[in-house]
Amino acid sequence: MEIIEKLKAAGLRGRGGAGFPAWQKWQMVKDARGEKKYVVCNVSEGEPAVAKDGYILEREPEIVVEGIALAMEAVGAGKGYLYLRKDYFDKYKDKLAGIVGGKEIEIAREPGGYLGGEETALLDSLEGKRCEPRIKPPFPPQAGLFGCPTLINNLETLYFAAKIDKGEYKNTRFYTISGDVPSAGVFERGENLTIKEVLEKTGNLPEFDFFVQAGGGASGTILMQDELDIPLSGAGSIVVYDKQKTDPRELGLQWINFFIRENCGKCVPCREGVYRLREIFSQEHLEPVDIARARDIVKLLAAASFCPFGKGAANSFGGLLEKLIKP
Ligand code: SF4
Repeated sequence: MEIIEKLKAAGLRGRGGAGFPAWQKWQMVKDARGEKKYVVCNVSEGEPAVAKDGYILEREPEIVVEGIALAMEAVGAGKGYLYLRKDYFDKYKDKLAGIVGGKEIEIAREPGGYLGGEETALLDSLEGKRCEPRIKPPFPPQAGLFGCPTLINNLETLYFAAKIDKGEYKNTRFYTISGDVPSAGVFERGENLTIKEVLEKTGNLPEFDFFVQAGGGASGTILMQDELDIPLSGAGSIVVYDKQKTDPRELGLQWINFFIRENCGKCVPCREGVYRLREIFSQEHLEPVDIARARDIVKLLAAASFCPFGKGAANSFGGLLEKLIKP
């Protein structure tokens, strides 16, 4: 069976956050017309509380490189990139260069910052331009790097593609667990577990009153204790918060500093909205009128942000305002 068929049979979905079926993306790039094609392994991993890609890279870099080479062959790409977050680049570049050997895979350094992981911003940065998202469509499988069909997959996706090819895939994925838990870290467990099951199976289900942020430590979704019987989406992270010890306003401020630091400034709703949210959350007490203003900003971020970054802020702040901050 050829690899794209194997990916389809295994039901592998992208592990970077969007969860798109891997085989479909590979097929799109394979079918796209272009004199040149590229494969990019995205190891930007800029979301707080997500550490699985670094975990895999530390332990099994050979499998990752195998996955890139496999994808290049499957889609007909002449060149691949291993696009690394800057600290991963500094730490692993020499080791990876040895593993890559004579293969046409370039080890590239992300310019720095969360947005380097957004797939079109990543392409611009690889082309030597300012790291900002592009308008879509066209999508990278049609017109990606230098206008050529490009397969962009998260590191974990390519790692498991290689495992599937070798017949070693056991329907698992990697979870990063942090916060108020006894055993924080990265765990490999079944891919379709609910959030509650992941916490149970890693010995991290609290006995105290808690809530979680699932799918990312800044843009992830806020879920209360009775909402955990659903599969974990996004990049597979869970942050547990002790409800009694967590001040929601302080938590919002913690996130907003990330959004202010990392937004690229390209669109007004995000560039201005995150500053206005900081103004509101910096007040000692939130009056009903402040909460109403914050909700309006969140709606605007959700509806009009140019890229997923601003919509991510709307997701986390929307949950915070709806579930934890009462007027
Ligand atoms: S949503 Fe934020 S990060 Fe995305 S383009 Fe707009 S300013 Fe840049």
